Order: sequence, then C-alpha cells, then structure tokens
Amino acid sequence: MNIFEKSQAIKNQDLTATKNLENYLEVIEKDNSSINAFLEVNKESALTQAKEIDEKIKNGEDVGSLAGLIFGIKANINVEDSIISAASKTLENYQGSYDASVVKYIKENDGIIVGICNMDEFAAGSSTESSFFGATHNPAAPGHIPGGSSGGSAAAIAAGMCDIALGSDTGGSIRNPASHCGVIGFKPTYGAVSRQGLLDLSMSLDQIGPLANDISGIAMALDTIIRYDETECTSLNQEFPVFTEIVNQKPEKLQEDMKNMKVAYISQFKDVTDEHINEIIDESIDKIKQLGAEVVELNFNQIDLCLPTYYLINYVEFFSSTRKYDGRKYGYKIEDVCGEEVLRRIEIGSYISQQEFSGKYYKKALQARSLIRNEINKLLDGVDLIVGPTVPKLPHKIGEKLEPMEMYAYDVLTVIANLAGIPAGSMKAGEYNGIPVGLQLQAKPNDDAKIIKAMAALESLN
Ligand code: GLN
Repeated sequence: MNIFEKSQAIKNQDLTATKNLENYLEVIEKDNSSINAFLEVNKESALTQAKEIDEKIKNGEDVGSLAGLIFGIKANINVEDSIISAASKTLENYQGSYDASVVKYIKENDGIIVGICNMDEFAAGSSTESSFFGATHNPAAPGHIPGGSSGGSAAAIAAGMCDIALGSDTGGSIRNPASHCGVIGFKPTYGAVSRQGLLDLSMSLDQIGPLANDISGIAMALDTIIRYDETECTSLNQEFPVFTEIVNQKPEKLQEDMKNMKVAYISQFKDVTDEHINEIIDESIDKIKQLGAEVVELNFNQIDLCLPTYYLINYVEFFSSTRKYDGRKYGYKIEDVCGEEVLRRIEIGSYISQQEFSGKYYKKALQARSLIRNEINKLLDGVDLIVGPTVPKLPHKIGEKLEPMEMYAYDVLTVIANLAGIPAGSMKAGEYNGIPVGLQLQAKPNDDAKIIKAMAALESLN
C-alpha cells in the first residue's frame, strides 16, 4: 500500500488514523534512541488529533487530503509549542510561537505532526553530525552518516517512523540525505514553497520540501505545501499541476509518456563521481532509455565554479541571518555556544561582508551565480530533464573526521539546483555494498511536474 492508498484506506475506515500513528510510535519508541531521528516526539497531542480525525470520519464529516498521515518536521521550521532549536544550543529553549506557513497548510489538511527531526546545526552541513543533540544514524547503512543537513527527516522515513517528513534544502540538504538513506526527497522550484517560518541558512537558496518512501507521498505533500503565500516576499504566484493526479496515472500511461521525454546526462557530473556510483547511475539511465526516452550527453563546463560560488553566498547570507541571535531575544549569543562549522561560516561571512565595499567577493559570487544559472538554463532549454548522481561519493562512517573541503565535496552536484533556482529530486537508484545510491533529476524552473512524472514512471518499474 503506498501513501496515497493508505490515505484512502483511512478515509474508507479500513485503517484508522490512530492505528497508523500507533504503528509509527511503536517504531519510534523502539528505535529512536539508537537512530536519533527525532529530537522531540509529541505523542499525546498527536494521539488526540488522530482520535479527532477518526471521529470525524466515523461521523461522515469532511476531512482534509492528508487526514491521518503522520509527519516529521525538520527542527528549523516553526511548529507552535515545539522546541525549534535548529539543532543548536543557541536555541535549545526556543519554543515555536507560531506555525510556519507549510505547517499551517499540513494541519489545515489534517496531517498529524508526530515530532521534530534532527539536523545539522542551523542546516550547515552534509552529515547531521554537527547537531548539538548528537548525530543521527543511517537506518539503511548502519554505522554510516545519513547525510544532511535534513538527516533526521531522511532517517525517520528510512526507519519507518512517519509517512512524510519536511526538510529544507539550501545546497542539497533534502536530496543528499534522501540519497544516502535510500528514500525520495524533492526540492521544489525556488519560491514554489513558502519559506515563511523557516529559520534561514541562506535565504536566496533555501527551499522547503518533502521526503517520503514513495512518490505518492511526495506528490500529496507538494499538493499541500506549494501555494502562493502573500506573507512571504519570494513566494511565487503561479499555478502548478495537481501532482497526486500525475502520480496516480496507470503505470502504462506513465511509462508511455517517457517516450516523449528528452533526457540529458552531463559528462562532467560523471567525472567528479565515484566509479561505483557511476555504474549504478548508468543502470538507471539504461532504464530511462528502455522506457523510450531520448537520452543525450551534454557538457557543463562551470562545475568547478559551483562550490566556491555556493559557499561564498552561503557564508555571507548566513552571517547576516545570524545577527538576530545576539542573546537578547532568543536564547544564547550564537558565537558563544555554536559548533565549529557554524562559527567558521559566521567568521568568514563577517570578514567578507566587511571587505565587500570594494565589491571583491560577494559581487563576484553573484556574477558567477548568474553565469551558472544561464548555462544550466541553456542546457535545459533543449531537454526536459537532466539526470545523474545526487551525491558524488558514498557516506563516511559516523565519527570519521573530515576536513571542511571534504565535507563540502559532498555537495558539488546538488548546489547547482539551488544556485539556478530549479527543481530537483532524488530517488534510490540502487545500492553499493548495501549503501543506497541516489539518482538526481533536475528540470527547468516550474517544471517540477516533469521530475515527479519521471520518478513515478521509474518507481512503477519496481
Ligand atoms: N551541505 C550544504 C551546506 O553545508 C547544504 C546545506 C543545506 O542544504 N542546508 O551548506
């Protein structure tokens, strides 16, 4: 039963919301102490909400599209009355005083929030080891990192602790842990999902999106959270198709539609990727070919520019967004209590901002960003999708010490979508030595549905 079918079963009273929740609570109680996917579990309030939903269904009252589905929310998205710490000591006592727009939409549609997911401190990382509350473990590859920064959200899905989790993606933080944990993660077009209520890492790159074990869960989440939000300045006022309708088409139709797609893979993506990962990605590309899509090879010569451009912008915007954590309003002064990586970004971000009067660094990074965006859009002009690996290397073992540059190297294939503002998703392509490997699909801005459709077609082959 996929997530959409489960939601129908709940509405038809073949399954209750309470039972669905209890199944997940059982797994959480058994495994969360070792996996550390959830920082907080709201058992009582979730049970109360589940019972209310069951009662409404029994009485024949209308319920929302997500009725009885269980959600985990990353610890940098405001949920009223939960501790929204961004996994930092800075905010260890900060209680969300309102619901972020996306949380509001989920609650309006009767989704049940079971808890708050672990992450890298302030979303600055790719391993979920920098959480003040301890690392999250990868349920799909024991001993290894789950990826990050939304590692708690991905691990919660992989461990079977909820139906859908929300993450945030600034340079890959949804897709990277989805890849390492063998689940699906989707970063929508920049602005498609409201950032209102998200504690920002780098506001011109941040985007909220869903993770789930199947594409129907991703589609249902997108149908709920993609919405114009007049309270948020970057929110797009634009129509998107109904994603649930797309993924619920017959497998034959989904597969047939692949015949009309032109798909590119980029040689330079292969050059920077581990050979074992490339082999698995080649198998996915073969499947795409077998479905009848036209597959072409293209070049993207700006690959070496991507990480420096991304990190420079990230440092400067992050520095600016952390100035409110001065210890007066929200807990501790950030520099007094934060971890190594957050401090590095604040210090370098501060330095660059001071130097900026001469237009030395940030301005150059913005120029490089335009170049990258233009080149990617040019490539996408001739094709429907770009496919390739999500992450160029396999996840390291928890506790292994990486240099900052080695950690940043995980992000080379994911930052491109954030710099260009395009939609991108990751789904499991296969495994190497028992470790999941993700396939990334990217499309033009607002072509989110093409990715969802292709993922549904690929999923239908399983
Ligand atoms: N790993 C990247 C970084 O450290 C991406 C983080 C993210 O997407 N939140 O900035």
